[in-house]
Amino acid sequence: MTASDQSGAEGGLDPRSPLAVRGLTVTYGEKPALFSLDATFPAGRMSAIVGPNGAGKSTFLKAALDLIPRVSGEVTVFGRPVDQVRDRIAYVPQRASVDWDFPTTAIDVVLMGLYGRLGLWRRITGGHRDQARACLDRVGMADFADRQIGQLSGGQQQRVFLARALAQEADLYLLDEPFAGVDAATERAIIDVLKSLKDEGRSVIAVHHDLSTVPQYFDHVLLINLRRVAEGPIAEAFTPETLTKAYGGRLAATQLDRLALSAS
Ligand code: ADP
Ligand code: MG
Repeated sequence: MTASDQSGAEGGLDPRSPLAVRGLTVTYGEKPALFSLDATFPAGRMSAIVGPNGAGKSTFLKAALDLIPRVSGEVTVFGRPVDQVRDRIAYVPQRASVDWDFPTTAIDVVLMGLYGRLGLWRRITGGHRDQARACLDRVGMADFADRQIGQLSGGQQQRVFLARALAQEADLYLLDEPFAGVDAATERAIIDVLKSLKDEGRSVIAVHHDLSTVPQYFDHVLLINLRRVAEGPIAEAFTPETLTKAYGGRLAATQLDRLALSAS
């Protein structure tokens, strides 16, 4: 076996990492949205992807999942190409990007999460409905199982989509701004569920908007703004210096002081 065989076809990206990328470049037309990005997320941890609006955070998740094409770069999920491990990944897209008018109930949305594991040809049984109900219960939505999804509040819709992700029993959970536009009770419910996933040994990676809760919620952070600005454990990578680099003048000094205090 040669050295290159040992490092594998994906160029030596860490095979233990639930998501590792190297040299990821994505453009929309001529305009780059991500440029030569490297990242290695740790297994069994909660990681945040942080950066200003338009930094390329959603683009990163979509490109990592092969939902949009990349110009260049390598991506592995647990050391494998994404296509070989799709059944180990659950993705909760940004809520604003979902069409909420489709006529379906909360429990049907969760059952969609089960289809991936069952295969479409398998009949949905009472047992599957019980499993779906248990997932709704875990996010505090058991009483809303038969509600039309379009009739739920933003926070309730977000909980239902998290329940669908739970039904997938994935090893890697990718969420795009799961707390955007939700009430405080929903935020707490979601963070509790994400922490329980971590306690079960699963890996969670979330695009996160609220800088003030990064140190409290997450173990690891990737700061981006078109390029990687910093990556690592919160104490090392989430500092006034790295934040200033990522956000430029957009963060006030008082904000930075407060963040530095909460991170230490
Ligand atoms: P973030 O999630 O960090 O706010 P995005 O990944 O959504 O940023 O977008 C990064 C950049 O790419 C932005 O400038 C955005 O306007 C642009 N962009 C995103 N999606 C598209 C698209 N489908 N077509 C053209 N430009 C896009
Ligand atoms: Mg986004």
